[in-house]
Order: sequence, then structure tokens, then C-alpha cells
Amino acid sequence: MEHRDLVVVGLGGIGSAVLGEAARRGLGPLGLDRFKNGHTFGSSHGGSRVARQAYFEHSDYVPLLESAFDGWDRLEAETGIRCLHRIGVLLAGGDDSMLLNASLASARTHGIPIESLDPAELRRRFPQFRLPKAMRGVFEPGAGFVRPEAGIDANLQSAVGHGAEIRRPVEVLSIDAGDAGALIRTGQGEIHAERVVVTAGAWTSRLLGGLLNARVQFVPQRKEMVWFANRVGVACSSAGMPAWLIDDEGRCGNGVYYGVPTWAGQTGHLGMKIGFHGPGVPVDPDTAQAVPPDVVDRFSRDMERYLPGVLGEPIAVQSCLYTMSADEHFVIDRLPGRAAVVVAAGFSGHGYKFAPAIGEIAIDLSVGGESSLPAGFLGLSRFETEAES
Ligand SMILES: Cc1cc2nc3c(=O)[nH]c(=O)nc-3n(C[C@H](O)[C@H](O)[C@H](O)COP(=O)(O)OP(=O)(O)OC[C@H]3O[C@@H](n4cnc5c(N)ncnc54)[C@H](O)[C@@H]3O)c2cc1C
Repeated sequence: MEHRDLVVVGLGGIGSAVLGEAARRGLGPLGLDRFKNGHTFGSSHGGSRVARQAYFEHSDYVPLLESAFDGWDRLEAETGIRCLHRIGVLLAGGDDSMLLNASLASARTHGIPIESLDPAELRRRFPQFRLPKAMRGVFEPGAGFVRPEAGIDANLQSAVGHGAEIRRPVEVLSIDAGDAGALIRTGQGEIHAERVVVTAGAWTSRLLGGLLNARVQFVPQRKEMVWFANRVGVACSSAGMPAWLIDDEGRCGNGVYYGVPTWAGQTGHLGMKIGFHGPGVPVDPDTAQAVPPDVVDRFSRDMERYLPGVLGEPIAVQSCLYTMSADEHFVIDRLPGRAAVVVAAGFSGHGYKFAPAIGEIAIDLSVGGESSLPAGFLGLSRFETEAES
């Protein structure tokens, strides 16, 4: 049987960063993925991911975001592949908007530069949007977007350059583990690993099911991305158009529309990519790719309302998977009683921009049991009952 020190299972957005981190630390990791690089079955395709630091999801994420942005800069310097574009992010919402208020609170707590815009200033600065009159804005100039395909390429290039081995397509069928090593069964034979990091995205529960506490859930949901063509130069691909999120609770309920302008040279389509971050229903990750028929019409109607005359025709639509944890916060931890296994999953639709920091945390945990980054709040103990702890 083959023996390895460290195996990373799943080389998507997060696993590629974990593999890179392990390789740069001289751990000679092996990376496995069931699909070829560039596949569109998981969570890390579509050209762009919004990257903010004034974090409404919880201010505890901010130190991890600061570390992640530094990590992107280092990766770009090492590989020459541009990943992070600081074009600014605009948030718009009403007085009660959690999106705005929690972002402002995070920015205040951690000293993140932001500009708070009253309704008049919001309209003056961003005339391309037509928003309800009372909406105000928060603009974070140092934010922007990361390009997942570029980030994966850069991380894999760095990993291989520092001694990692990659095998794909190789499907991992099961993992058995204790504290002293793991047995990994693949379609191409068995591997004994001292340590394994599982970054299998939407397939994590299927792979680790029996090793996880029943309260630890990773539930896949399908989301859609729709690209609209450029109509006027200022709308997309040029200065003056940041990435944006609109919290229009009156119309959209518990969810936000977001958009990211695209540009020549990006993977995917030119124009503006639109998505909706909100509640979804569980899907089977193996069969979830088909896009529901009403999505393009709904997005087109809503964009005509928020960006009238700015966007052209819808030109493409693609689905992508979220992997929801029970509380919508990430899970990055060693498995209790099976210290050989670290899991990093449940990114709940907001994980990609963190990839360099998650790589660091996962390898810290795998090697020494503790991370130098303040990531304890993402541990598995939050799902234990008092009786178990
Ligand atoms: C539409 C959409 C919009 C998003 N917007 C944002 C955003 O604005 N900002 C942000 O930060 N994040 C965003 N996210 C979330 C972010 O993209 C994800 O959190 C991140 O990409 C998750 O990466 P992952 O590595 O966990 O999953 P994946 O990239 O899917 O990687 C998992 C990998 O594991 C492999 N695998 C699975 N099972 C096995 C097995 N048994 N054997 C071998 N290999 C296996 C798969 O083939 C896959 O390559 C968004 C996600 C979506 C879908």
C-alpha cells in the first residue's frame, strides 16, 4: 500500500489553497480530485467572487480576511497570476439593513476604511443605480473581487513548484481514520496517510458522513449566476462600477442581489455577473446543475429595476453549489477522536475569498492541532451538546 504524510482530498477553491500551503511548508503533500481542473460541478467557477473585509456575517472573520488578502497578494507576487481586484464594493440598503449595519460595525471594530453614504450621496456617487429613495450606502474602497479559476491555478502552480503531487481524476471512495493515520480508499487503490485534509465541498457529508457528529451538516444548495452584456462603457469593465450588493428587503425578502463587473481576459463572459444570495433548497450535488427556467427572466426584470438602461441582454447562465453548514459559518477543525483528519467545509456561499487563510488554518491544525490565526469560532465544538463536551 502507498504511504503518504499528508493527503488533501478535493482540489477546488479551498483544497488548492490547502495544498499550496502544505507544499510551501515542505510537507510534500498529495492532492486528489475526482474531476479535472476547470470543472464546473462544484462551487468555484463563474469568474469572480466578491471579496469584502467589513464583514456583515460576523466581525470575528475580519482578522482572517486581513490574512487572506495578504495571502492573495503573496500568491500573485509568487506566480504572476492576478487573483484579487480591488475595484471597491458598494453595499446599499435601508436604515434597518443588517447588511449595512453589521458591515459598519465590523469596520468600526477593526478599523477598516469605509465610506458611509447618505441617500443623496449614494445617488450622486453611483448614478447608474436606481434604488428606493431612502436607501443609503457603504463603500469599501479596498474590497473588490477574487477570480476563483485564477486562484486555483495559482495555488496549484505554487503547490507543484514547492513539491506537491497532484492526481486527478481520482475519486476518493471512503476515509477511515483514528488519531494515528487514515486509510483512504480511492478508485485507483488505497493510500495510508499520516494526515488528511478533506476539502470536498458539496460532497463532504457523503465522504465523511459516518465520521461526523449528526448535528454537523453540510447541505448542498444550487445557486444561479446570470451574465448580462455591456451596454454602456461606464457600467462594466471600467472605473466607476464597483462590485455591489443590494439589500432590498421590501422586494427581495431575506436575501441580497449582488453584481460583479467583468473585463476582457476574465474566464467567462464580458459584462456584469449577477447573483442572488438568499435561502435555497437542498440538492443532490451530482445532479443539481440544471438551471430552473424562470431564473433569467426574474434576474432580467429585477436588474431593469435597479440598473435601468445600464445592462444589455442576458448572455449566459450557470449554476453553482453552496455548501451550507447548520449556522452558515465555516467548519474548519480536526475531527474529535480522529486527529488525523481535518475538515474544511460548510462555506455557506461566502468562503472563497478566505482561501489563503483557510489553507493556513487547516495546515496549522493538521500539523500541530492549533492555528496561529484566530479561527477557534469555526471549530466543531459548537455543534456538541453539553453531554458530549
Ligand atoms: C454562485 C456562488 C456565488 C458565491 N459568491 C461568493 C462570494 O461572492 N464571495 C465568496 O467569498 N464566496 C462566494 N461563494 C462561495 C465560494 O465560492 C465557496 O465557498 C468556495 O468556492 C468553496 O470551495 P470548496 O473548495 O469548498 O468547493 P469546490 O471548489 O467545489 O471543491 C471541492 C472539490 O472536491 C472534489 N471532490 C468532492 N468529492 C470528492 C471525492 N470523493 N474524491 C475526490 N475529490 C472530490 C470536487 O471535485 C471539487 O473539485 C459563492 C459560491 C457560489 C456557488
